[in-house]
Amino acid sequence: MNKQLRKAVIAGNWKMNKTPAEATELINAIKAELDGKKTDGCEIVACVPYVDIANAVEAAKGSPIHIGAENVHWEKSGAYTGEISADMLKECGVEYVIIGHSERRQYFGETDGTVNKRVHAALEAGLKVILCVGELLTEREQGVTAEIVAKQTKIALLGVTAEQLKNVIIAYEPVWAIGTGKTATADQANEVCGAIRMVIGGLYGLKAAAGITIQYGGSMNAKNASELLAKEHVDGGLIGGASLKAPDFGVIIAAAQ
Ligand code: PEP
Repeated sequence: MNKQLRKAVIAGNWKMNKTPAEATELINAIKAELDGKKTDGCEIVACVPYVDIANAVEAAKGSPIHIGAENVHWEKSGAYTGEISADMLKECGVEYVIIGHSERRQYFGETDGTVNKRVHAALEAGLKVILCVGELLTEREQGVTAEIVAKQTKIALLGVTAEQLKNVIIAYEPVWAIGTGKTATADQANEVCGAIRMVIGGLYGLKAAAGITIQYGGSMNAKNASELLAKEHVDGGLIGGASLKAPDFGVIIAAAQ
């Protein structure tokens, strides 16, 4: 399957970091890193806390940086105190949304079922989805990584049409590698991204499998990005910690060109 068919996507996940004023500063610092450099080899996304969206969208205007959110609720409106709908995000200028991040699954009761509902809501509102899947350390040790990511992927995409799939990116994020400094080896990342591609092939056919962007996420940084991104099935990265440092994020973006 030809890697050149796919657009690499380098996305930052800021998690619960940066106030609105700091968001403006960080987007400006990333813009300064990108100034005069080639950026058209990958799509650049910053997924920011809800309260940072307005500042981030404003600061990113006229730059290659696209703004994403870190979650979305599945209902359009109603009595869901503290939640944010897909239409609200869209109207604020958000283009991407992370769904099913392991921290949401671990700390906020996210299930494959609620991930599926959020995916539908986001796609129906015209957002692009970064769907996170990944195994726990115990699951890797038990040798069930491929089964776990296949189950998560299949349930998340239940009812999603082939046309809608064009707006879905999958991020393979082994839970044991997120925020731990432990990176999957490039071969491990490639193997699981390849397995996810096979799942997409089984669900939507070979053309869809060849075209879908599958990122790796889990302690990707300025040092290990080129090796990971060079792998056949790794089409980009979802980056937490290193996306908060403009120079490091800039190096990762350069590695994806
Ligand atoms: C993430 O939050 O999706 C992530 C991969 O974090 P980190 O890069 O810090 O491991």
